[in-house]
Amino acid sequence: MTKKYDVVVIGSGPAGYVAAIRCAQLGFSVACVEKWRTKENKSVYGGTCLNVGCIPSKALLDTTHKFAEAQNSFDAHGIKVTKMDIDVPSMMSRKGAVVSQLTQGIKGLFATNKVDGVVGSAKITGVNTVLVTDHDGNKQSLETKNIIIATGSQPINIPPAPIDHETIVDSTGALEFEKIPKRLGVIGAGVIGLELGSVWARLGSEVTVLEALDEFLPPVDRQIAKEAAKIFSKQGLDIKLGSQVKGHKFSKGAKKQITLEYSDKEGKQKKAFDKVIVAVGRKPVTEGLFDDSLGIKICDRGFIEVNDHCQTKVPNIFAVGDVVRGPMLAHKGSDEGVMVAERLADKKTQVNYALVPSVIYTHPEIAWVGQNEEELKAEGIEYNVGSFPFAASGRALAANDSEGLVKIVSQKATDRILGCQIIGPSAADLLQQIVIAMEFSASAEDIGLTMFSHPALSEAVHEAALAANGHAIHIGNKKRR
Ligand code: FAD
Ligand code: NAD
Repeated sequence: MTKKYDVVVIGSGPAGYVAAIRCAQLGFSVACVEKWRTKENKSVYGGTCLNVGCIPSKALLDTTHKFAEAQNSFDAHGIKVTKMDIDVPSMMSRKGAVVSQLTQGIKGLFATNKVDGVVGSAKITGVNTVLVTDHDGNKQSLETKNIIIATGSQPINIPPAPIDHETIVDSTGALEFEKIPKRLGVIGAGVIGLELGSVWARLGSEVTVLEALDEFLPPVDRQIAKEAAKIFSKQGLDIKLGSQVKGHKFSKGAKKQITLEYSDKEGKQKKAFDKVIVAVGRKPVTEGLFDDSLGIKICDRGFIEVNDHCQTKVPNIFAVGDVVRGPMLAHKGSDEGVMVAERLADKKTQVNYALVPSVIYTHPEIAWVGQNEEELKAEGIEYNVGSFPFAASGRALAANDSEGLVKIVSQKATDRILGCQIIGPSAADLLQQIVIAMEFSASAEDIGLTMFSHPALSEAVHEAALAANGHAIHIGNKKRR
């Protein structure tokens, strides 16, 4: 018997499961189809983010940060640690437990909200039909008024270093090393390269990051990127910019070792590694999802074409998350999922694409939102800039965690905040204060006039806002106004 729904969501990552739950809250009958299976052949919800992305990477970043802190900073607090070791299998099983708690949580949320979770691979066979094939080959057809595609993304493979899941791995493999690789090569100095490179560097791997571009972290404010490069190099990440990987060779013998061949300004180079992580970006997943005749359009980079409201060229079919344009971030996908659900319920919800916060969860974290100095200069917008170093923050000094700075840029004519960039402890959470302020079109003065608790890291945000108008108290101001 064909089941009938108001909405069928394809994919249960942060874009899909949030869309499904919000649709159900609004009174629609909803199914969410998911094909993901774990290595143990268990069907799970949560997509990339929960299973092999945001959550497991943060679990490993948190464990290894504690380890690095105990090794490098406890001494400064007078805490003596005589013998320290890391038990990689325990670290991995803790990560697994966190992931499984959260993926089980989605199952529970589906049950509470009466979302039908359907296990299997979905294909859109008509504007109102989705065919689901389960892992035993059984097929069922779902009839639906609306379809939300949330099929996400997958790692990009490059021919000079094809993934073999053993020596050359993608981000998923890098979350599962059974032991600490002595020499780790990372291709790509983007978010994944820096986060997962940090995880293994903290445990003792010699990490070399080969980045094709000459510029480090192009989307980030130049001052912040320069500060980050300095800090990462001190932490032992050897980041080689302008390095084009050309090929690889495996050594013969019992212990498999790989040599990457690459070229840089000086010419041809070679470097031997025990493991290599390829982290050169991700691409949308649309293969086999629908036939061209359906009318859904795909743009040249493989993303499903949608308008500002995530509607495809077929009016009752929507697409959200990594499979559509914009940054590949969990929160961006979730907000799109909510928008589509609410617009189906005749609300006027929009996503503010100008205010998508970005974070790199290294230590210190790097976080930014809105425009940076370089972007404002390029657009010819006159601005004020206020910055405050954590080295002048009482709370950061008390914690012995005072690297980095907060920067706030505001429009010269109106003082309206146009962007914020932070490198420092808890940058992600500190940034959120400015994201909220910007949603309310706040000025730097609004932040300056707000009382902040003392001593707190967020005082650095307060002082940066004051500095934008030459009023900072705990540092010298370039200009007084
Ligand atoms: P996905 O999470 O990829 O989910 C798509 C789902 O659709 C999958 O479960 C897939 O199995 C399913 N699917 C696909 N095709 C079909 C089909 N035909 N039938 C049924 N099901 C199908 N983002 C952040 O914001 N913060 C972070 O800290 C962060 N860390 C990351 C760390 C790593 C290592 C990686 C790889 C990514 C990270 N990301 C992070 C990015 C984040 O994971 C993605 O932006 C997010 O998962 C995208 O959500 P989505 O719902 O669009 O797609
Ligand atoms: P990325 O786009 O962040 O970085 C890829 C890097 O690889 C770039 O610097 C690029 O210049 C470089 N590169 C590309 N081809 C190369 C080549 N052949 N040789 C050497 N370098 C090359 O991509 P990513 O790090 O793979 O992450 C993928 C996506 O996942 C990102 O869009 C990101 O938003 C998301 N993600 C987010 C987080 C987070 O929010 N904290 C964490 C992990 C992943």
